[in-house]
Amino acid sequence: MQAVTVTPGERDSLRILDIPDVQGSDGQVVVRVLQGGLCGTDAEITSGLYGEAPAGSRYLVLGHENLGVVESAPAGSLSAGDLVVSTVRRPCPEACLPCQSGENDMCLTGHYRERGIQALHGFMSERYAEDPRYVVPVPASLRGVAVLVEPMTVAQKALEQTFRIQGRMSWAPRQAVVLGAGPVGILAAAAMRIRGLEVTVVSREPEGSTRDALLREAGIRYLSTTSAPIADLPRRLGAIDIVLEATGAAAVIAPALGILGRDGVCVLASVTEVGRQGEIDLGAWNRQMVLGNRLVFGTVNAGRRHFEAAVRDLAVAEERRPGWMERLINRRLPFTEAARALVRAPEDIKTVLDFG
Ligand SMILES: [Zn+2]
Ligand SMILES: [Zn+2]
Repeated sequence: MQAVTVTPGERDSLRILDIPDVQGSDGQVVVRVLQGGLCGTDAEITSGLYGEAPAGSRYLVLGHENLGVVESAPAGSLSAGDLVVSTVRRPCPEACLPCQSGENDMCLTGHYRERGIQALHGFMSERYAEDPRYVVPVPASLRGVAVLVEPMTVAQKALEQTFRIQGRMSWAPRQAVVLGAGPVGILAAAAMRIRGLEVTVVSREPEGSTRDALLREAGIRYLSTTSAPIADLPRRLGAIDIVLEATGAAAVIAPALGILGRDGVCVLASVTEVGRQGEIDLGAWNRQMVLGNRLVFGTVNAGRRHFEAAVRDLAVAEERRPGWMERLINRRLPFTEAARALVRAPEDIKTVLDFG
């Protein structure tokens, strides 16, 4: 079968290779891949910055954002023909407490493996095999949008954790700000809107862009940093209960921490470059944190329950605004054109490779 592969550590090593077909072992689900989504992680792996091939393999099959259809499954799990999305992270060999508890996204040792990223082949091959524990069913009605389940899980985990942590008090958040208008930012804003929050997405693109129009349609305000510096947001919007940082830009972190209202939560959900020295008045920041009962936490990856929650939210979004989610996927290419697909234009939101 054909697969989109890279040689980790090498620049521009993306190749379509003919690799041995999957032999699903006993107890595994065999899935025929329909679509694979591309994101910044795939671009980083392809440029040799990141990624690790499985032991004994020279290449790594790329792809963690996935959608497929079950070909065969062990009795009592899924059925042939079911639409499915698989989770990405697998437990560490030490089986730390979170990994033992099925919370691989909270792994303590850091020795977890991730399909398409770290020591396990990804989903960008014509078929793959997987343990049913990691395969999440999706209703057939979500066929057009379910490749967004994986990027949506980041938002689901961020929100679930936010509300769990805020169980520390009586809390009725009203207003949220999402920094960054990439797929994760837009999906997070949509998930917040579903929960009844007033949401503002803030990013660099000028107001009036395609993204701005798309967000407005879903009742989400868009502000450009060219017209509204981040530090001005509380003055313009009033108290901000949740700030979700999803830009990947280190320069945004200090302002993100500074705009939080009393009892508010700042969720850091993007990975930034190391070495960026920002200026922050730690005394003032600490004072603000303490006197306002504010909270900051980091979140990465997602567990099975966040995939299930993502499926539910995509269904709600489809019901409330049919066809809106699907417009986030504004570029589709056959998987054989993966190299071209990784070169993104500024207006691209989500690029998807078709395998079917
Ligand atoms: Zn991704
Ligand atoms: Zn672990």
